[in-house]
Amino acid sequence: MRTISARAHAKVNLHLGVGDLREDGYHDLTTVFQSLSLSDTVTLEIGPDRDLVVEGSIVSGLSATGLDAASVPTDDSNLAWRAVDKLVEYYRTHHGLAESRSVHIQIHKGIPTAGGMAGGSADAAAALVAAHAFLSETHPAVPMSVLVDIAAELGSDVPFTLRGGTMLGRGRGELLTPLLSRGTYHWVLVFFREGLSTPRVFAELDTLREQGTSLGWSMETDDLAKALLSGEARQVAAHLHNDLEAPVRQLRRDVDRMREAGLEAGALRAVVSGSGPTVAFLCESELHARDVLDDLLADGAYSGTVAHGPAKGAHLLT
Ligand code: ATP
Repeated sequence: MRTISARAHAKVNLHLGVGDLREDGYHDLTTVFQSLSLSDTVTLEIGPDRDLVVEGSIVSGLSATGLDAASVPTDDSNLAWRAVDKLVEYYRTHHGLAESRSVHIQIHKGIPTAGGMAGGSADAAAALVAAHAFLSETHPAVPMSVLVDIAAELGSDVPFTLRGGTMLGRGRGELLTPLLSRGTYHWVLVFFREGLSTPRVFAELDTLREQGTSLGWSMETDDLAKALLSGEARQVAAHLHNDLEAPVRQLRRDVDRMREAGLEAGALRAVVSGSGPTVAFLCESELHARDVLDDLLADGAYSGTVAHGPAKGAHLLT
């Protein structure tokens, strides 16, 4: 048996502005993504004795290990599985792929599931990169722009996890512009045992807005972009913002308590990551982050880690 592995990273939204609900059911977003060192690895296991597949999925099965592995779907609803299927369809349509060996997908999770850190999206991005390496052994390679288009069909955060770094996202978050960012930022991430469903958090925001709770939207990112050029954590900390924080805190009081605890422990600023519930604390340095993490995990009730960003996009492991 031979394997092809690719790694993709988690994201934190330094800014997440949520605008109007669109007719297609999505909200208009203005977001600034930063990829973090926390990552998942997706491995395609290809055996010479595996079946030759001429139509339908080439994926024979999927298994997951690592963080929250029990919550990861192991059927064709898994985003990594769907990513392989989509790329194979592209090769069948555009490059005459007639048959292919079947593959087993192995995912090693370092990113929490349903934690607002784009874990499933990262797996989709890594699966695209690994499947592309496999299919381009016998057929032409496709440009990154094609992979990004396929990524956008898989989910709003997949294009960013494919490209990594620091980027401004518009539309559903899939229309990306790279942002200049200096330096390395050190984060404490605190995970919660129970995840949050992204659609539920957006629905709660809509409800709060309908009820007239004065929840505006913040689509302005110029000050954050300037702060990122300074390379100074304190300046970036002053501009962290997430419109989904109010609905997340409404749904989960434990998030509020954790935010307070992190600030008391000396973090520069707390922000809910994406649709939560993971809370990300920006710190001055790695040492500072380790101190804050030790404080927050001291009673054993939560798990978490220190991470840094920006990290790179999805890439092959050789
Ligand atoms: P985002 O930040 O992109 O909104 P998230 O990080 O909050 O997403 P995910 O970890 O992507 O959430 O998981 C959301 C749901 O997606 C899970 O509850 C699970 O049912 C489904 N899912 C599909 N593929 C995967 C995967 N490879 N890993 C984890 N969850 C997956």
